[in-house]
Amino acid sequence: PPVVTARGVTKAYGRTRALAGVDLQVRAGEVLGLVGHNGAGKSTLMRVLAGLESCDAGAVLVHGEEAPAGSAAAFGTVRMAYQETSLCPDLTVAENMWISSRHCLPRLGWRRAASTSVRRRLDEVFPGHGVTPRDRVEDLSLAQRQMVEIVRACLVDRLDLLILDEPTESLGPDAARTLYAYVRRLAEAGTAVLLISHRIREVLSAADRVVVLRDGAVTADRAAAGMTEPD
Ligand code: ADP
Ligand code: ADP
Repeated sequence: PPVVTARGVTKAYGRTRALAGVDLQVRAGEVLGLVGHNGAGKSTLMRVLAGLESCDAGAVLVHGEEAPAGSAAAFGTVRMAYQETSLCPDLTVAENMWISSRHCLPRLGWRRAASTSVRRRLDEVFPGHGVTPRDRVEDLSLAQRQMVEIVRACLVDRLDLLILDEPTESLGPDAARTLYAYVRRLAEAGTAVLLISHRIREVLSAADRVVVLRDGAVTADRAAAGMTEPD
C-alpha cells in the first residue's frame, strides 16, 4: 500500500473550509509535488497528512492502516518557512539534532546525533555548507538554517515520508540543485517525498507526479513529465 493515503479528507477552520474532500496517495520511492495558490490548503493538507492535525471527515491511512488521531510520530517530517524554521535559535546545530531525536520522535530509531555524524551528513547533503555542529543556529545564515533543518529531518534511520514545505525559499540555485539531487537519492532508497513549492519549474523537474490543489480540492493529479504550467 502507499506510504500515506488521504481519503476524502475534509477540514474547516470555523467557516473557512480549508480542505474539501481530498483524495491523495504518496508511494514509497515517489516524489510528489503539491502546488496551488495561496490559501489552496497546502499547509493544512501537509499538517493533516503528518498527523499534526486531525481532519473533520475522511481518513488518513499510513501504510494502508488508519492512523490513530494525533499520531504525529508516524513519520519524520519537516516544515520549512522563509526566515523561520523550527530550529531553536539559541542552541547549537548538534543540540538541535539531539533535541529532536530525544524528545520529538523517540520511537523512530533516531539516534543521538553525535557531532561527527551531523558533520558527515551535512557534508553528504550540502558540500561546502560552511556549518559546523558547534555553531549556534542564530549565527547561521538563512540558507544554512534551511540546510540544517533539512538534514535534521533526514537523520532518521528509516525515513518513511519527508515533507518539504518551500525547502528552497532561502537557498541559492546551487544549493537547490544539491538538495533536489539528495531528495532523488532518498526517494530511490524508498522514502516517499511530498514537495510543496510555488516554484513551479522546480516542482516539475524534481517531482515524479504533481497534484494541483485549488480551494481545498484536487483539480489535477498527473505525471510531472510533459506537464507544463499547471494552473
Ligand atoms: P496554503 O498553504 O495553500 O496557502 P492553507 O492550508 O494555509 O493554504 O490555508 C487554507 C485555508 O484555510 C485558507 O483560507 C486559510 O486562511 C485557512 N486556514 C489555514 N489554517 C488556518 C487556521 N489555523 N485557522 C484559521 N484558518 C486557517
Ligand atoms: P503558507 O501558505 O506558505 O503556509 P500562509 O501565510 O498561508 O503561508 O500560512 C502560514 C500559516 O498560518 C499556516 O500554518 C496556515 O495554516 C496558518 N494560517 C493561514 N491562514 C490562517 C488564518 N486565517 N488564521 C490562522 N492561521 C492561519
